[in-house]
Amino acid sequence: MALQDTREDGQEPIGLAAKHLQSLRRRDFLDGAALIDGSWVSGEQRDVVVDPATGQAIADVAHCEAADVNRAIAAAERAFFAWRKMLPAKRGSILRSWASLILDHAEELAILVTSEQGKPLVEARGEIAYGAGFLDWFAAEGERAYGETIPGHKPDSLLQVRMQPIGVAAAITPWNFPIAMITRKAGAALAAGCPIIVKPAPETPLSALAVARLAEEAGVPRGVLQVVVGNPVELSAALLRDQKVRALSFTGSTQVGRLLLGGAAETIKKTSLELGGHAPLLVFDDVDLDKAVNGAMAAKFATSGQDCLAANRIYVQRGLYGAFVEEFAKKIARLKVGHGLEPSTDIGPMTIISVANKCREQIDDALTRGAQLISSRCERLGPNFVTPALLSDVTDDMLIAQEETFGPVAAVLPFDTEEEVVARSNANEMGLAGYVYTNNLRRALRLSEQLECGMLGINTASFTGPPIPFGGWKQSGLGREGSRHGLAEYMELKYVCFGDLAA
Ligand code: NAD
Repeated sequence: MALQDTREDGQEPIGLAAKHLQSLRRRDFLDGAALIDGSWVSGEQRDVVVDPATGQAIADVAHCEAADVNRAIAAAERAFFAWRKMLPAKRGSILRSWASLILDHAEELAILVTSEQGKPLVEARGEIAYGAGFLDWFAAEGERAYGETIPGHKPDSLLQVRMQPIGVAAAITPWNFPIAMITRKAGAALAAGCPIIVKPAPETPLSALAVARLAEEAGVPRGVLQVVVGNPVELSAALLRDQKVRALSFTGSTQVGRLLLGGAAETIKKTSLELGGHAPLLVFDDVDLDKAVNGAMAAKFATSGQDCLAANRIYVQRGLYGAFVEEFAKKIARLKVGHGLEPSTDIGPMTIISVANKCREQIDDALTRGAQLISSRCERLGPNFVTPALLSDVTDDMLIAQEETFGPVAAVLPFDTEEEVVARSNANEMGLAGYVYTNNLRRALRLSEQLECGMLGINTASFTGPPIPFGGWKQSGLGREGSRHGLAEYMELKYVCFGDLAA
């Protein structure tokens, strides 16, 4: 397995990522300039971007400061008036052009995503298509911000509820979906008539800056979409303290979400939070074994496990438990670990080393408390790599059964009754997603009511997309993204009462 090209001249080897990036036709995708008030700002100070597979530097990007954020907010405020007045159909056509430019550049964007995030190239391509889909979907949804007319509650009156754009929005996005988490927020904000300032994760700024270039080329006007990169604490603080920023949309950990919610309280920003998950996946013994195992593979190992929808607790009913563990282990053993740019890779590096370390800690903790580790190989590819592992006989007191893993370690727990597994599934402060595998229709209907989560897949591990309300219960978040509910996050309701209408 070669993560780097060897060189005969004895110089530093060229990493796979650097080699692929050198081949990009769009050299501007690598210049690392931030987009502020219609200008590409390079700055003197730069931050390094690394390939998580090798730790090698692959690019550097601008290091924005609070003053840059303030300039961006002022520019967004200036851009707001014209953008909100533009007909929704015209805004929609700009969003559609942006989506098609993203698709036209899908291969180059996928190389950027894999180089800085680490996911296998095939998944990066999937993210580009998924991300462009939000722009297309919101392009049309912006024309459907209908509002309501309410039958009057007093004589000669007409009651209207209008939906109006809230104003300047800020988006703080994570590294696991460096493009789709931006388009999911920006698509809704722009369709609603709001300018948006994006602060991407410092690990994955290249993808964010590249899609911003394409937005500009699609005709998104100056100040309507801006991207600032730099220190997350400094930049987020500047966005939070300014009252002209009316809405905040954050995707990331519950821990940081809690901090940002506190900061947003000062100026009462409309806040939507897509936070951590700890999805239960329930397999009942009436179900086809292969379907359930395939579902668990998809729900656990997509994005190398670095997915907020990842199944963190796989509960299998006792009658199917042994067979499930055996089949699941066989499939996991076939997963190929490697650099995301190698075509055969299923599992790439963890984007940040703390995720890899957390996986190892959770495995150690589970083993100390009596779980079994079924993991066929132990490759040493680098500190950010985690060999996909299966922990069986996991119990509810183990760390992995309580805290989000965010990596390719699957925890399987036996259960006996439906009532018991519902109680155990709900005994967690996270409530983002859940999965159920059963052939019993009555049971499926009961569970769809009882499980405490924002999104539930019954006999499927694949349910996200632009038309669905993505979001969680409990400490997994506030508000929704995608769907008409996602558009509403960037709008205010205005109730208007027309009185005295009698002739
Ligand atoms: P994170 O919370 O560390 O970072 C998210 C964003 O917040 C980044 O832009 C980061 O730069 C910024 N940030 C970090 N610390 C900050 C601080 N102190 N002040 C201000 N900003 C700060 O999360 P992550 O590690 O990048 O992503 C992983 C987490 O995100 C997981 O918990 C995962 O479940 C969650 N996630 C949720 C969804 C969802 O839609 N619910 C989607 C993807 C990821």
